[in-house]
Amino acid sequence: MRARWAVFFWAFSLIANAGFSQDKLSVARFSPPAIPPDKGYFVQEIRGGVYWVTDGLYNTMFIVSSAGVIAVDPLPNLGARYLKAIREVTDKPITHVIYSHEHTDHIGAAYLFSKDAVYIAHEQTAQILARRQDPRRPVPNQTFSQSRTLDVGDQSLVLEYKGTNHEAGNIFIYAPRHKILMLVDVVYPGWMPYKNLGIAEDVPGYIEAHQEALAYDFDTLVAGHVDHLGTRADVEMSLEFVKELQSTVIAEVKTLDFPKFLRANVSPKHRWDRHNDYEQEVVSRCYARLFPKWNNKLRGTDTYLRDNCWAMLESVSVQFPEVQK
Ligand SMILES: [Zn+2]
Repeated sequence: MRARWAVFFWAFSLIANAGFSQDKLSVARFSPPAIPPDKGYFVQEIRGGVYWVTDGLYNTMFIVSSAGVIAVDPLPNLGARYLKAIREVTDKPITHVIYSHEHTDHIGAAYLFSKDAVYIAHEQTAQILARRQDPRRPVPNQTFSQSRTLDVGDQSLVLEYKGTNHEAGNIFIYAPRHKILMLVDVVYPGWMPYKNLGIAEDVPGYIEAHQEALAYDFDTLVAGHVDHLGTRADVEMSLEFVKELQSTVIAEVKTLDFPKFLRANVSPKHRWDRHNDYEQEVVSRCYARLFPKWNNKLRGTDTYLRDNCWAMLESVSVQFPEVQK
């Protein structure tokens, strides 16, 4: 009997260890890594000298080359711990700092990095930062318009801009040899997008960014948020969600337009006030239709779906071509 148990445990540990050593990264992709409390961050090589680092809420990546380190998005949540994470894996100097976009929550620790490094961002990001006058976010000293290939030592990184999505100046950061794509604040792997579609400045551009991402040959996505990496499947699921969100809102607006709502719901309130009542009604219908499916697919649906219905309604009203009634 004891021997049978021993065989069982041996077989079990073999399977468990094989699963772990085969692909430690897959564990990090699909379940959050433990953040050592003494360090406050988790750092791991994705492959080929490209590392990702997370505090469990945000994430970013850095690339170690033979000539120095390219650090992307100096996250304020990590602050000086980002520098420690880099020092944990290399003593090469940080030669380049790249901003994905202008938002403080992704680049607000830039001032902690070396003044001698080359800071690179899209030209629109540089323009916005010049207006911000924020000492935490130095204006980049190199910019590009459409595309820039950055060759540092034995590493190559492609920076591309395809138009406004989450924000003007938000870029695609691509390590072609390693099939790693970084696109921030568009896809939230495994999760419902943050409220108002991640505060998307241009919702049509935000949807297009999914298709533009899928045009890259990549299998690992660094998305800027949540506690694990993403895959192509996460981008595909996010695209399916936003398309369904758009078609649902359009269908509800067609079924119930504002004049019809006013006729059906007589009230002494001013029409200006009633506009908000109307939007709340469309949002409630959108939420009721989408919640059962997406609550089973994306975490945080109960928290963020309502705000995302509202953001899509606003965009359908003012950004997309006219809804045909
Ligand atoms: Zn942002």
